[in-house]
Amino acid sequence: MTDQATTPSDCSESVFHYAVQQSAIAISITDANARILYVNPAFCAITGYPAAEVVGQRQSLLSYKSTPRDVYQRMWASLTAGRAWTGRLLNRRRDGSPYVAELTVTPIRSPGEDAVHYLGMHWDATEEHRLAQQLGNHRQLIESVISVAPVAVVLLDGEGRVVLDNPAYRRVVAEMAVAEPAHAVMSALRDNLGEAFDHAVGHRRAILNQELRFDRGGGEPRWYSCSLSWFEEQSTSPDAFYEDASRDYLLLVMHDISASKRQQEALRLAAMRAMLSEGELNQSLREALSGAVFQLQGPVNLIAAAAGLQRRRAGAAAVADPLVKALADAQRAGEEAIATLQAAMPPEPVQSVGPVNLNEVLRDVLMLETDSMLAAGITVDWRPAHVLPSIQGDATALRTLFRVLVTNAVEAMNVRGWTERSLAIVTAPHGSQVEVELTDSGPGIPEALRLKVFEPFFSTKPGKGGARGVGLSLAQEIVSRHRGVLEVDAHHAGGCRLRVSFPGARAAAAALAREGR
Ligand code: FAD
Repeated sequence: MTDQATTPSDCSESVFHYAVQQSAIAISITDANARILYVNPAFCAITGYPAAEVVGQRQSLLSYKSTPRDVYQRMWASLTAGRAWTGRLLNRRRDGSPYVAELTVTPIRSPGEDAVHYLGMHWDATEEHRLAQQLGNHRQLIESVISVAPVAVVLLDGEGRVVLDNPAYRRVVAEMAVAEPAHAVMSALRDNLGEAFDHAVGHRRAILNQELRFDRGGGEPRWYSCSLSWFEEQSTSPDAFYEDASRDYLLLVMHDISASKRQQEALRLAAMRAMLSEGELNQSLREALSGAVFQLQGPVNLIAAAAGLQRRRAGAAAVADPLVKALADAQRAGEEAIATLQAAMPPEPVQSVGPVNLNEVLRDVLMLETDSMLAAGITVDWRPAHVLPSIQGDATALRTLFRVLVTNAVEAMNVRGWTERSLAIVTAPHGSQVEVELTDSGPGIPEALRLKVFEPFFSTKPGKGGARGVGLSLAQEIVSRHRGVLEVDAHHAGGCRLRVSFPGARAAAAALAREGR
């Protein structure tokens, strides 16, 4: 751009004069020693000095005397080299109050003159400086709060790239075996919430306090309460000055709740253990009392038959016949004993039937039996199907079932001199069935006893009081109640393999519909 181009001929000197006079920017013109020759009204308005008071003074009268010396040195180095200088200085008004001046000084050489003049133009940038500082302070505050926060925080851009994280999140990255935990959280939330997740993401709705469990290779699982929210950044590009251009960021906050989850889990297991023990005790009592009633019923029936025979034989003299009376007394005593035993029978447990995932039931049972298996030195090979359809059933009864089977396996292997001690548990869907296979490396069940072991009161172990031999018949009863099949694998050698299969929840519902229930 040439000088001619910036001084159009139709723009008179007076127009330039008025332009300078009426400019909102403070303008001063100095000589080569920074002695003021001219100031415009905006200069007077900003500094508080009337023109008459500053003309003839040095520009330094505006200095607040706290601007570092090297700032002026750089300014003057630039000016004496003939280059303009722009920067911020701290100025003092006439009343002594400070303000931040955004100043540009330009050396002016008029044609045909040796002397240099300087054109100074400044505006009050105090407010802008305040806002910039405030922004910086906020940013620093947020960063320091986030960095000491006990929750993991991570900000992802539209492409899922991490743009900001905090030390707690970096600890999660180090602890979890996955490359980017934020991505693992997102896909776990998608799996858990299904359509609700897509809806929330599509409408930029927050997802709050979703509990997720992460299993780490070897270590204890970690639980996080995860919240997703959206942050909209307005574009700072000049292109978007009049447009609504913004970018979305995803803010993920992960709160480690493993400690309280572990506590809850311990309480749940304790309650479950108590419930199962009580249920098993009641069931054993019911089995024992039913057996006793069954055993008594035979002799009482015989006495009743003998009493009838004797009554008919005695005919009219039956009333006075002492044998008829003795037999009648014996029959009554027997019937009373049966009634007493029946009254002592604990009530059947209330069943609550619903969809049950056998992987969860077995995981609970393994946790309950951990101590006894550790004590017996038994290793467990637990191979759950990744996705196992639910079955329709009573979770408590099913826990009792598998607890009985696992306890039997532990007892079978935990004998003196038996060195092979392993238990494999595999779950798998088979068509419409859900199958569980328990294989122990114990002595196995001899072929001759494969059916007998399911009879009540039958036990291969010597009786030590309590309800010996009730376990497998109880297991069989629970399996039958769930329309399942429990069988001993006749072809398996080197231990005992039990196979339990149940109809999946869908197959069970179809069967009920067929029966019109
Ligand atoms: P000074 O004694 O002025 O000098 C500080 C440093 O600058 C020294 O290193 C000195 O060697 C060098 N220096 C000073 N004058 C010259 C010169 N003429 N040639 C070469 N080197 C020199 N300052 C403000 O604080 N606020 C303003 O708003 C402001 N506006 C200005 C507008 C114009 C047009 C000009 C030319 C200067 C302006 N100045 C302003 C700078 C001002 O002139 C002083 O340099 C500054 O205020 C420092 O003053 P001082 O008395 O502390 O130091």
